[in-house]
Amino acid sequence: MSSVLGTYARKAISFTTGKGSYLFTESGEKYLDFVQGIATNILGHCHEHLVKTIQKQSKKLWHVSNAFVIPDQERLAKRLTDNTFADFVCFQNSGTEATEASIKIARKYFHKIGKPEKNRIITFQGAFHGRTLAALFAANNPKHIEGFGPIVDGFDQVPFPGSHNKSKADHETIKDAITKNTAAIMVETIMGEGGIKVIPDFCLKGLRKLCDENEILLILDEVQSAYRTGNFFAFELAGIKPDIVPIAKGIGGGFPLGACLVTKKVSVGMTAGTHGSTFGGNPLAMAVGNAVLDIIFEKNFLQNVRKKGEYFQQELNKIKEKYPKVIGEIRGLGLMIGLKMLVDNTEFMKKLMNYKMLTVKAEENVIRLFPPLIVSNSELDEAISKIEAACSEMN
Ligand code: PLP
Repeated sequence: MSSVLGTYARKAISFTTGKGSYLFTESGEKYLDFVQGIATNILGHCHEHLVKTIQKQSKKLWHVSNAFVIPDQERLAKRLTDNTFADFVCFQNSGTEATEASIKIARKYFHKIGKPEKNRIITFQGAFHGRTLAALFAANNPKHIEGFGPIVDGFDQVPFPGSHNKSKADHETIKDAITKNTAAIMVETIMGEGGIKVIPDFCLKGLRKLCDENEILLILDEVQSAYRTGNFFAFELAGIKPDIVPIAKGIGGGFPLGACLVTKKVSVGMTAGTHGSTFGGNPLAMAVGNAVLDIIFEKNFLQNVRKKGEYFQQELNKIKEKYPKVIGEIRGLGLMIGLKMLVDNTEFMKKLMNYKMLTVKAEENVIRLFPPLIVSNSELDEAISKIEAACSEMN
């Protein structure tokens, strides 16, 4: 019997090595890995630049307290702010810590400007923001919160702002949930665990407008979508600027790293002592975070991600047309993709595993595909033929 607490329904398989888009078992079996640590190993397994960076940094310095200036932390924060809406970054170790920090920053802002009554946050059905108590009750997923009461108050939940099929988007319904106590609206730009549901651009614009009209902050959770859609952030296409953005997963390329990006205006409450993290932003994590950015900022890198995403979605759509009883819809942006299945997603994933391809599920009977951003077109073709073979079996 395993001594590991049984909080995961683990598959009876383990891997000993990884390279790029592939994982290998001890006996040498090769799997096409489109889980990538659930959208985390954004540059694939054991990317050369990351390996070298970790080797080099591990001989210099791993960890010092945030009581001291950490030059690589300054550098990563500068690179993140120079290239985004944000003026400041606070580093964490995970997505859930980043969303938790976002909630704290929003509340502290209104406290600081003399409006402490503005302390409630509007969230959306089907959301996922992590597993701390606040993040759990923010998302309010009945499966996740059961038995973890008392309820963490401060969240008002509304239906998802806009249908993923873009025809019924109606952020207007959110208006009714706004009160004099509303501090922020928090939503994933692309709902990940909820089933790869992309918020349409006009809806994001509508949310921004609502926030501006009602003195509310906009928190866009990009923990799963940052760097992955062929844009730095998924919301950029809508041409809007949020106030706070939590990020994690891909930004560390597989090394635990989270961050919360914030504007100068909203940061005013966060003075010395208001937040902290022993590990957050340590030299080893910062070296890796900078190394990931080195690659992301390479000329045409994100543009190529966009192209690969378009190619993959186009080929997936062909399969969908061929097997309309198996796949109902292709969702997503860039290399953050969901297959809305018309057959049982778990069964389909088992078939894919027989074809040595790893995928991860989401709500709404969706299967998520997270190729690493360095995936080649021939690896995408390999995925396509495995998916097609599974479709033909389940047709
Ligand atoms: N926010 C979103 C949108 C996520 O997808 C996740 C994780 O899946 C989290 C927050 C929590 O991140 P972590 O598991 O790193 O704590």
